[in-house]
Amino acid sequence: MDITLKTEDLFTTIGLEIHVELNTVSKMFCGCAVGFGGEPNTRVCPVCLGHPGTLPVPNGKAIEFATKISMALGCEIAPRSIFHRKNYFYPDMPKNYQISQYDIPIGSGGFLDVDLDGVVHRVGITRVHLEEDTGKSLHIGGGGRIHDAEYSLEDFNRAGTPLVEIVTEPDITSAEVARAFAQELRLILEFLGVSDVQMQEGSLRIDANISVAREGERGTKAEVKNMNSMRSVLRALLYEEQRQREVLQGDGVLEQSTRHWDEKAGVTQPLRTKEFAFDYRYFPEPDLVPIEPSVEWLRQLTEEIPEVPAERRKRLVAEMNLTAYDAGVVSSSRAIADFYDAAVGAARSSTPKQVANWMSNQLAGLLSEAKQSLAEAKISPRSFAALVDAVSGGDLSRVHGNEVLIEMLATGHESDAIIKDKGFGETTDRGAVESVVDDVLSANPDVVARLKSGDSKPMGFLVGLIMKATRGQANPITVREILDLRLKD
Ligand code: ZN
Ligand code: MN
Repeated sequence: MDITLKTEDLFTTIGLEIHVELNTVSKMFCGCAVGFGGEPNTRVCPVCLGHPGTLPVPNGKAIEFATKISMALGCEIAPRSIFHRKNYFYPDMPKNYQISQYDIPIGSGGFLDVDLDGVVHRVGITRVHLEEDTGKSLHIGGGGRIHDAEYSLEDFNRAGTPLVEIVTEPDITSAEVARAFAQELRLILEFLGVSDVQMQEGSLRIDANISVAREGERGTKAEVKNMNSMRSVLRALLYEEQRQREVLQGDGVLEQSTRHWDEKAGVTQPLRTKEFAFDYRYFPEPDLVPIEPSVEWLRQLTEEIPEVPAERRKRLVAEMNLTAYDAGVVSSSRAIADFYDAAVGAARSSTPKQVANWMSNQLAGLLSEAKQSLAEAKISPRSFAALVDAVSGGDLSRVHGNEVLIEMLATGHESDAIIKDKGFGETTDRGAVESVVDDVLSANPDVVARLKSGDSKPMGFLVGLIMKATRGQANPITVREILDLRLKD
């Protein structure tokens, strides 16, 4: 054994397994409503409670959503896929089997490119399959875990909720890439409109297989569960990577295990072996027919798939002249993207780039200061566009524009009304700027003479003096206009 096994000699391999609750109206195989929370056991029926003699009826919308997810991840769509029963006993699953897919999933062989600090990491998508969610157990007493609980309660409201499982190839090489992948996937699902993707509420659940080994050697993987936020995906995997490194560097032996991420303690803990040693005895579900999508239906779905976030960012950079950073900011959620598109549509004189600038600089800054999301903010795209128009058209200085925006966020009033109220009109501003320009010009006759003789070099100096005299409140376009007029005389 190599005693001085250095960190740089060790390589990390990560694969992710992601469960996505679909936001369909009804459950996967019955008519019960899909939702979060609520009085326990109020959204249940004989089918999702697994009563004998009941028959499942598949939800067409869920099949459509799973197919769209597969398409957006570049998967091949199976011309014929079937449901299987995955058999195991657990109190949160009344049928004692989960209807899932096994050897033929809806989608397979896709990929997702993840950009992390300008480096693109391609992560293969092994499979995308459709299944149903379980109920929820509430373990009372002890540490809230099943093995030391006094008793447990079962809520079957979630049982039978349509669930899509996405499995990646073990292509991920660091915790940072794993988090970036998860974030990009969440964005795609949100843009597709197929899920609420709330990690805290469990509508997006991420498990990871991670192993550390010497190059060319096979590692021993640990499955990490219970990562309830993007931040905990990063923290848990960094922790687990370091733990495995230390075992290997200490000449120890790693054991295959399922580990629970403890958010408070900041460590992964092994689960009892019995909790995950299953033999699922998969067999084809006899009560359901195969999924056989027609070519026509698949073509229709392809047309319905919206532009994925990566394509959108690329288009904004190429066609709208945005920086990569701004393109990312105005595409960072469906709500933000919709707001941006609406504001660009409503803008009269501003360019898409100017609208993006105001969103990613002023608006994003003020919202994060107020710990507010754009959805919560009382601001309409039309009113925002009018503000950006006023600034980019030279009617309003940047500083006054910012003041107006603060007022818009605080009161929900329209930008036009606030501009009027505060007396930030073109005339008032222009008059004030004109007198400053005249003062500066009469104080610098030599500079004026040089400019009038055709030497344009001192122009920047002069504009600087004027901006300084107005404490930055003048609009540079207005300043240049007034200067041009005065210097023509
Ligand atoms: Zn039901
Ligand atoms: Mn699953």
